[in-house]
Amino acid sequence: MDKLKIAIQKSGRLSEKSLELLRECGIKISKGSQTLKTNSSNFPIEVLFLRDDDIPQYVEQNVADIGILGENEVWEKNRKVETIRKLGFGNCRLSLAIPKDENYTGISYFNNKKVATSYPKILSEFCAENNLYVEIEEISGSVEIAPSIGLAHGIFDIVSTGSTLLMNGLKEVETVTKSEAILIKSENLSHEKQKILEKLLFRIQAVIYSRENKYILLNAPNTAISAIIEVLPGMKSPTVLPLAKEGWSSIHSVIKEDEFWDIIDRLKNLGAESILVVPIEKMIL
Ligand code: ATP
Ligand code: ZN
Repeated sequence: MDKLKIAIQKSGRLSEKSLELLRECGIKISKGSQTLKTNSSNFPIEVLFLRDDDIPQYVEQNVADIGILGENEVWEKNRKVETIRKLGFGNCRLSLAIPKDENYTGISYFNNKKVATSYPKILSEFCAENNLYVEIEEISGSVEIAPSIGLAHGIFDIVSTGSTLLMNGLKEVETVTKSEAILIKSENLSHEKQKILEKLLFRIQAVIYSRENKYILLNAPNTAISAIIEVLPGMKSPTVLPLAKEGWSSIHSVIKEDEFWDIIDRLKNLGAESILVVPIEKMIL
């Protein structure tokens, strides 16, 4: 039987999270530190461990069938690959930064300036859209030191917390775009591989839903049930079960992880008690 070949980052910010996603999909993968490729013992998949920069090319050329990498690399490399879905990790932004003591006057500040970056394509597109003339200095790493060593006036790079910028005496002045990890696929997948991919996607969907949602259980007086149901949309509609205590019920539902703290006070004000919020192992809609 054919195997679906998936390329993931060998070592870096996306490596562990990519493996973790596959493992949560029930796919067994053993990886030593020197492993370059490995098969799963319980799913028809072969994992290739590569530099993230090379993944778009390998997927375009069918060396790998699918890949996990940052959207930023897909935009920069501009290879013929299809984006399947966002994966909800590896979030970052691509921003312009300048030395912190500089007076930033708006985007035209960058006109006729030198900017160092590892993302020349994304930056030149941004400059063209904004009618800026910028001299782009392409370097492959340690972009943040470029201004202090006199290579460039500013930088265009990936930022997540901003602490690397601060450490290098820089300030972020424009966010050009946001990026996160995505799943891409080759444009020519055999029917058989497409079938394996669908099976994998079904599992990924379930894993991502379960990460984004929580199961909530609470007790409430029957008189409050309808008001509480308004606040808790649930997957279809919440489950309401009678409690042994006369006039009370237990309400169960699913809520978005990031909505939880907004909802909680409203639930308490409506008379909800003994509120339990628990993680969901897998969620299939
Ligand atoms: P490789 O050796 O595979 O080329 P790399 O040095 O290019 O590794 P990493 O720094 O591991 O790459 O980043 C991989 C991806 O992680 C980035 O392309 C980006 O999509 C994402 N990412 C998320 N947060 C950050 C961050 N703070 N800094 C850098 N990349 C980040
Ligand atoms: Zn890279």
